[in-house]
Amino acid sequence: MSQPLIVITGASSGIGAATARLFSAQGHALLLLARRLEKLEELGLPDALCRKVDVTDRDAVGTAVREAEDRFGPADAIVNNAGVMLLGLIADQPAQEWDRMIDVNVKGVLHGIRAVLPGMLARGTGTIINVSSVAGRKTYPNHAAYVGTKFAVHALSENLREEVAPSGIRVVTIAPGAVETELLSHTSNERIKEDYEAWKRSAGGALDPRIVAEAIAYAYRQPPDVTVREIVLAATGQQA
Ligand code: NDP
Repeated sequence: MSQPLIVITGASSGIGAATARLFSAQGHALLLLARRLEKLEELGLPDALCRKVDVTDRDAVGTAVREAEDRFGPADAIVNNAGVMLLGLIADQPAQEWDRMIDVNVKGVLHGIRAVLPGMLARGTGTIINVSSVAGRKTYPNHAAYVGTKFAVHALSENLREEVAPSGIRVVTIAPGAVETELLSHTSNERIKEDYEAWKRSAGGALDPRIVAEAIAYAYRQPPDVTVREIVLAATGQQA
């Protein structure tokens, strides 16, 4: 018998893929969402329903969650991890990049929450884990719009925690520093990318995504009456 269903958005690479592998190894049924279906399927995990879903599509997120719940039973947790980081200066960054970050990083998180929360409230149990960033607590060069989306994730998560705590639902914010993933690759400004890579090297490298997955699993594994509200973790050499 599987452990309960966990939904992971952005499971096709980086932190999401590492989290999928870890929860699978712990016996969980999974719903894995991303746009690159083939990368989800390549993970080859048992009891894992893989669906090509863009988290900006609220209905598609809800439909996939209902399908997974019909197959595996109620979602006990969601890891709202899908995100994009498009670094740039407000003066010249294409405004479409702001739209994309706000749609994926903020609205995508809300869509994931809405897909599971009514069921969790009805059952009086469940865990919502939102992946924010240290850039959700402090600012960095060239990060203004991204930081705006991650401060939003911190804020909405804490407000949601207050809303649903009396109903037995846990809300956890995970705030990593730099992690070695594909995240930077989508930034369009080559100079900013090079500077960021140099900054990572000067910090002695970034976290392995498996370390972040372990932090997510640690928060989830606490007894139901314990909420780890936030975990902030970064490479020791990361000063900022
Ligand atoms: P990756 O780029 O490796 O992974 C991002 C994931 O998000 C991919 O699986 C991608 O899948 C998915 N994704 C992106 N856009 C969409 C979309 N519209 N719909 C569905 N899925 C989408 O980066 P990380 O693993 O680093 O990022 C995961 C989270 O961690 C993000 O929220 C990021 O902001 C956060 N974070 C990362 C840090 C880092 O330094 N790497 C530091 C702090 C926080 P696909 O392209 O297949 O759709």
